[in-house]
Amino acid sequence: MAAHRSAWQRSGPDHRIRGGKGQRMRQRRLDRTDGLCEMCDAEGLTTLATVVDHIVPLAKGGQDVDANTRNLCDRHHAEVTSEQFGRAAPKAKGVDRNGWPTDASHPWNQPEPT
Ligand SMILES: [Zn+2]
Repeated sequence: MAAHRSAWQRSGPDHRIRGGKGQRMRQRRLDRTDGLCEMCDAEGLTTLATVVDHIVPLAKGGQDVDANTRNLCDRHHAEVTSEQFGRAAPKAKGVDRNGWPTDASHPWNQPEPT
């Protein structure tokens, strides 16, 4: 039990907007899709969104308005971020550019037996 850690203890990218107003705005945006990832929803999956993503990144001149946001899970956020910022996107789901599974629980990602 000593190793128990809450997901809330992870450091997130969410310090861009501080204070109650930003928190309420984020929650309102998440509520738009009942807190679910929009891209998973399009695939018929039900996954909790963890990120309110800007469709056009603020760094590329996008506006911080609801119409420029979408709710994404970690996986989809990583995918769209790598596309937006010019890195090669993984060709297949769950596999990185070298064809290695990105899933930490995949057998290939387990420590070698000794
Ligand atoms: Zn998703």
